[in-house]
Amino acid sequence: MHMGWPPVRRRLRAEALDRMAHMVRLAVAAGVGAAGQRYAGVARRMSTRHRLRMPYEMRMMFCKKCKTFIPPGSGSRVRLGSRPRAVRVTCRRCGHIYRKVLGPRR
Ligand SMILES: [Zn+2]
Repeated sequence: MHMGWPPVRRRLRAEALDRMAHMVRLAVAAGVGAAGQRYAGVARRMSTRHRLRMPYEMRMMFCKKCKTFIPPGSGSRVRLGSRPRAVRVTCRRCGHIYRKVLGPRR
């Protein structure tokens, strides 16, 4: 198509976010092997290139420290703590622990 780019950047971003989510789904389906890391890498580059902030569910699949794709279960250990109510994600590769404190129960 040579009709030019849509003028609305927001739509491009929404589409990029869609593709990024799709890549993450492919990565999750592929697992922690080479294919999964490749899909995850594409998703991460898209987030950088389009300056898209990954939603939390996607972000928690990447280790903050070693940047590896760590899907819950095979790549990371996810534990729920009670006091304070928090999710603890442990990277199985480098052992980095990422804690996200959840708000008080409503
Ligand atoms: Zn790590």
